[in-house]
Amino acid sequence: MDEEIDKETRELVLKKAVELMRSGATLLSEVCPICKSPLLKLRSGEIVCPIHGRVMVVKTEEEIAEAGVLGALTELEKRIAKILGMYIRKIDKEGSTYEDARDIVYWLDALERIERIKHILKRPLIQGEEQIKKSERREGGE
Ligand SMILES: [Zn+2]
Repeated sequence: MDEEIDKETRELVLKKAVELMRSGATLLSEVCPICKSPLLKLRSGEIVCPIHGRVMVVKTEEEIAEAGVLGALTELEKRIAKILGMYIRKIDKEGSTYEDARDIVYWLDALERIERIKHILKRPLIQGEEQIKKSERREGGE
């Protein structure tokens, strides 16, 4: 959902960006996921949009690391599915032993953990909702 950016808003963005840069912020090549304004990195390391305040960008180092973890987890899941398939074939052929059952539970436990971690990592990437409301209240002529 893109917001229309009029001339007035663009000037405001520019003014705020300049203000932030004067206090040591650096301009990033990334844009705000909500309004497409250029983002700035504050000296504290926080990434902010001149309109929406603090936003989470998909391309921060942390996000890239998390994307890598997600990829690894997905690969692990595929391997575990394969291993479980091997147990099914083994049980069909030779019946199951106590060790098989124990190993299967072990792998299922691993799958459950993977799902849990993936769920945590897949939280929404944009955390600017509250800032939008706040900034609307602020800018919207009280
Ligand atoms: Zn924005």
